[in-house]
Amino acid sequence: MNMGIKGKWALVCASSKGLGRGCAEALAAEGVNVIINARGEQALLATEQYLKETYQVEVIAIAADITTESGQEKVLAVADKVDILVTNAGGPPPGIWSDWDRDDFIAAIDANMLTPIALMKAILPAMIAKGWGRIVNITSVSVKSPIAVLGLSNSARAGLTGYVAGTARQVAKHGVTINNLQPGIHATDRATALDTGAAKLQSISLDEAQQQRCETIPVGRYGTAAEFGASCAFLCSEHAGFIVGQNILLDGGAVNSTM
Ligand code: NAP
Repeated sequence: MNMGIKGKWALVCASSKGLGRGCAEALAAEGVNVIINARGEQALLATEQYLKETYQVEVIAIAADITTESGQEKVLAVADKVDILVTNAGGPPPGIWSDWDRDDFIAAIDANMLTPIALMKAILPAMIAKGWGRIVNITSVSVKSPIAVLGLSNSARAGLTGYVAGTARQVAKHGVTINNLQPGIHATDRATALDTGAAKLQSISLDEAQQQRCETIPVGRYGTAAEFGASCAFLCSEHAGFIVGQNILLDGGAVNSTM
């Protein structure tokens, strides 16, 4: 299927590795020029080189912490006219309800709610003026089905989801769509870090913790960044103009619900 987005520009935040990188790669494969971002320069530059060489698109790499005001300014300085925005950042640390104080919530809300909102606010006016835009926020399965140890994530991402639900409907008439992708477990560094914590708690190996988790997923395996990216590219395509304000679960069937 021709996605109809060749030659457009996308900003994909937090994209040197993992799900963000999967989205950047899937867009680049469709001929989209990409601005990629991460804090660490080494992996970011390696991803930049790989995307340029593999897909012959333009790639701009901006090393910055996207959750800070200065990081957002640095990225927006080159990205204010993008056609596609994929918001993403690292997830908050795990814990238990009694661990989290005001400062922990503020940090999580800053990273996983207020950062994507600030980016959308900055970029939406240009999309509206052009009459075309696609925004995809990487959130989490935890919005739909809480993950108890990720209470900070459950809270901050639920706030973002509420904002998107209203805003997507306000901007839709301008040809701009906003949707959220909700990843269940995917094989990335983040998943390995969470599984390492789970293994430690139960005094089992990482392999055993991963096997345990696979048993809870109907497809019997973790998702891949490539699969995730392909779904993102479709939401960013010409064909997805009637998909507005949705939360799309990519979890191998792990959430047991009828709708
Ligand atoms: P990952 O494999 O750890 O990759 C994170 C990427 O984001 C890296 O490129 C990292 O590079 C960059 N990054 C992290 N914090 C950043 C920041 N403040 N500013 C700029 N770049 C930043 O994580 P992932 O698995 O792809 O997860 C992406 C998001 O999806 C996270 O919010 C995670 O909580 C959520 N999620 C993931 C899963 C899963 O199973 N993987 C499931 C549900 C939700 P640097 O470290 O160099 O900055």
